This record gives sequence, structure tokens and C-alpha cells, in this order.
Amino acid sequence: MTAIIGIDLGTTFSAVAHLNESGIPAIIMTGSSDKNILPSCILFDDAVAVVGEEAQKAMWVNDPNAVGRFKREMGTDKTYSISGQSFTPADLSGIILKKLAGDATAKLGEISEAVITVPACFGHPGREATMKAAEYAGLKVQNIIDEPTAAALYYGYKEGKDLGGTYAVYDLGGGTFDVSIIRVSGQDVEVLSSSGVAKLGGHDFDIMLQMLVFDKYKKETGETLINEDWSLGEAESTKHSLSTREEVKIRINRKLITVTRGEFEEAISTLIAQTDMLCESALDEAEVTKSQLQGLFLAGGSTRVPAIHQAASRAFDLEPIAAANVDEVVALGAALYAAYKGDRKAL
Ligand code: ADP
Ligand code: MG
Repeated sequence: MTAIIGIDLGTTFSAVAHLNESGIPAIIMTGSSDKNILPSCILFDDAVAVVGEEAQKAMWVNDPNAVGRFKREMGTDKTYSISGQSFTPADLSGIILKKLAGDATAKLGEISEAVITVPACFGHPGREATMKAAEYAGLKVQNIIDEPTAAALYYGYKEGKDLGGTYAVYDLGGGTFDVSIIRVSGQDVEVLSSSGVAKLGGHDFDIMLQMLVFDKYKKETGETLINEDWSLGEAESTKHSLSTREEVKIRINRKLITVTRGEFEEAISTLIAQTDMLCESALDEAEVTKSQLQGLFLAGGSTRVPAIHQAASRAFDLEPIAAANVDEVVALGAALYAAYKGDRKAL
């Protein structure tokens, strides 16, 4: 049997999904340690391209042989020079897709077709670069669909009923923010408007948190810290803790520093204000008022930050619908789309 897969080729994390034997959309585990999501990072170790966690760790320490966040440049003429070789963003995305396709093939057998998602705001060049990346990975791609479309299909499936009406999709990942107003009728999704910033996401929160901790350390000890003392990777894991805890203690050079959720929220407040404005402009552009919305769907790992959840709710006067696996909903929706198109029914 051949398999059809859906791929979320993300700025910071990618994921691949399919419809399992029971007809349920399911993530295919990837990477060297079988995780649901794979860091979209590549480490060039001699001539070998290592994709995933090890490459992400190398990024945190600014290893010149590591590269990430190239999706932001898809469709531009930017090139990356790494280990004496030159790569386009499409080449690098192709390496990520090849890894995902390889892991999926190892688990499911031959892949007959893949659906890949892109941000709704991607123009023709970004979509074409994505097709090129798929070609490099040896994937047969008949459909590239918008990320909010995939998220809506998954939420519709989860609600167990055909959606109908106008919805907002608020997607905050690691590198980018995208908000879309969509019109849904069953499995048909039309993106009415999409606003976003290519450089606003969880990675920026990590930088803000690192700066906050460096400032506190300086006030308490008089000493200046650098990335090597407390890396962005450590900032990211402290940020995750602050999503469930009000306060976290961290130890740097034998000194204990306390960071509170309130301090973190204050540090990212200007970034949150930017998302508020973009939500408004998405509504304006779609000529839709808040009261006309049937629902608000969340996607992207950064919507786990409580202040972001609240900001989304405030922006649309709606209690958001959020899956526990917000960072998987786009890949799962892509798998559903692939199945609908392939006439395989989801259960
Ligand atoms: P992409 O940018 O590829 O769309 P994701 O949707 O997977 O990526 O989002 C990744 C971002 O989500 C990262 O910045 C990560 O730190 C953040 N994130 C994941 N889980 C949490 C959490 N529990 N609290 C805060 N941020 C989180
Ligand atoms: Mg994403």
C-alpha cells in the first residue's frame, strides 16, 4: 500500500502526518529521538546534513555550520554560505523535507503523494520555492495549501461537524505571526484576508527573556553576561516553564535568579501589541466585524503562552478554540486535506 502524507514545513518546527489505519489523522514521529515535531534546523557535519535536535542545539551556540529560520526567505534570492557551499532557502527546505519523507517512508512504506502547507501570505515565489524543495526531496506534491486552511480543517474534524461561516485563525509559531480571516463551508475553506509579520514569534520571546535575565543578573551582581553563560536554548526552556508556572528560578554561575511570568509578559508586551494591531487589520481587510465571527482557532506553539492566549481572545472577543497540540494542528489538517482529495474518508 502507498501512503499519502501532510507536511507542515515550519519556520522553527516541521511535522508530518497521515490518516492511520483507523482513519484518524495522526502524527508520524520523526527525528533521531522520535518526536512529534522536528526542529527545522540543519547542521552540516563535514559533508553530512544533520536535521533536527542536534542542529537546533548547534544553532543555540551560534555554530557557523548550523542554519535555521530560512523559511522566512523562501522565494527571495538570498543564499546561505555554509561549510564552503552555497544554498538557496529552497535547497535547505528540501533537506528538511527529505528527512521528513525518509522518516515517513521508514514507517509507512512508499509515499505516493504529499500535501505541503505554506503561510497564507506566501506569494507565487514562496510557493514555487516550496515546490522546488519538494522536488529535491523526491516528493510528489499535487497540492500546496495555506496553513490556516489546514488548521481549520483539523478543528472542523475535531469538532465532529462540518464548519460553516467565518472564523479567525491566530497562528503564532517560533518565527512568524499570521492571522487570517477565513470562510468555511464543510471542507471548503477560503482565506478572506491574512496579515502577519515574518519576524515575530517565540524566538523573539526567547531573546527578550534572555535580555531580561541578563539585566536582572547585572543588577544583582554587577557582572555582564553573554550568550555562552545562559544560551537562547536555556531561555526557551525557561519560557516553556513560565507557561505553566508563575515563577521560575534559574541558576547561572552559582547565582540563583528568579523570573516571574509577570516580568516576562512585560518584556514581550510591545510584541503582543503588534499582534493586536494585525488582528484588527485582518478584520478590516476582510470587511468582517468581530460579531460576525463564528469562532477563533489557535495554532502554533507560542499560543501556549498565557498572555498570548488572552491577547487572541481580546482581539476577537471570543474564547479561543485551542487543541493541546497546537503545534501539530497544521500537519494534521494537511493530512486530512490529502485524504479528502484522495477520497479516503476520515473517521
Ligand atoms: P513554527 O514557527 O515552525 O510554526 P511552532 O508552531 O512549533 O513553530 O512553534 C514553535 C514555538 O513555540 C517555539 O518558539 C517554542 O518555544 C514555542 N513553544 C512551544 N511550546 C511552548 C510552551 N509550552 N510555552 C511557550 N512557548 C512554547
Ligand atoms: Mg507554524
